[in-house]
Amino acid sequence: MDQSALGKTPRSNPAVYIGAFDDIRELFGQTDAAKQRGLNASAFSFNSSQGQCERCRGAGFEKIEMQFLSDVFIRCPDCDGRRYRPHILEVKIRSRRRESARSVVVRSQRRLTSAATKQEWSIADLLEATVDEVIEFLAAFPSSRPARSAGEKLKLLQEVGLGYLRLGQPINTLSGGESQRLKLVSHLAEAEVAQPSHLPVARHPHRATETDQTRRGTDAAQSSRRDAGATSAAAGEPTIFLFDEPTTGLHFDDVRLLLKVFQRLVDAGHSVLVIEHNLDVIKCADWVIDLGPEAGDEGGQIVAEGTPEEIVACERSHTGTALLDVLGIGSSSSAPIRIRGEANREARDGRKEETLP
Ligand SMILES: [Zn+2]
Repeated sequence: MDQSALGKTPRSNPAVYIGAFDDIRELFGQTDAAKQRGLNASAFSFNSSQGQCERCRGAGFEKIEMQFLSDVFIRCPDCDGRRYRPHILEVKIRSRRRESARSVVVRSQRRLTSAATKQEWSIADLLEATVDEVIEFLAAFPSSRPARSAGEKLKLLQEVGLGYLRLGQPINTLSGGESQRLKLVSHLAEAEVAQPSHLPVARHPHRATETDQTRRGTDAAQSSRRDAGATSAAAGEPTIFLFDEPTTGLHFDDVRLLLKVFQRLVDAGHSVLVIEHNLDVIKCADWVIDLGPEAGDEGGQIVAEGTPEEIVACERSHTGTALLDVLGIGSSSSAPIRIRGEANREARDGRKEETLP
């Protein structure tokens, strides 16, 4: 699993990717307003011809191909970027947490999107709001199964530091670190669904189509989730995740968040195998296999293996020397990540020595 883009399609978004949008569509399909209009959950998909804007086909924008420049996207003039036809946008869910929402604004003065300050939300308002805002909105419906299910999935995004993403943000605009965490969260979301004790959902709504290989999926996100191997995790089977230098190019804060997701995967019963030079990652491992002793042709041997503390105890191991400062004396692997000049120097030296053949 790497940081590569989740797909070139601008039609998928974080909510679709982790499966929360299915629940949100169901929530809208259950409203009286939807029932009166004869609309079910599928009408609230921007991929469905039932409700999507006819001009932009539910994308919310139009692509203009430039001859010598990259494509330009402009807001769809018919739906004004809202993706849906008016009869879909008329179906709104009243936020019952008006008071608390206002008090939050007063208390923290945080910036809310225009959707979050509205009292009635259409499905387009939800797509424009951030993950944090939608979690708060959904919390007002504790007795609704789809609202609870969507909230649980979105909380996973919040936990890995993606609460600022808008639900409708095209996934091809995410950074490498964001893409990587979103892929991991999709596995966690599937795993949580597979645990009936955690969520009262017996089956994921997409499971039937995902296993049916003969049916050609029309939803791009479904196929990209299949690519990510979500099916095996959804079955509740322990999965081994392989990563080749997952921290490459990541900001320090992103490394910390990535480690949190690794821990969640392990807590869910999966195994994580990482090829890595980053000492902050190595020190968190349960078991380290140190390859060396030198780089390239001079290496390829197992120098030491064991817990990070046991690697430190091996005098031949360059990794052990570098880990010594990062671990400190008497600290455990759960110690917070520290930045120290000396440790960073060691880390650089360690990296140079550690290049795998
Ligand atoms: Zn449109």
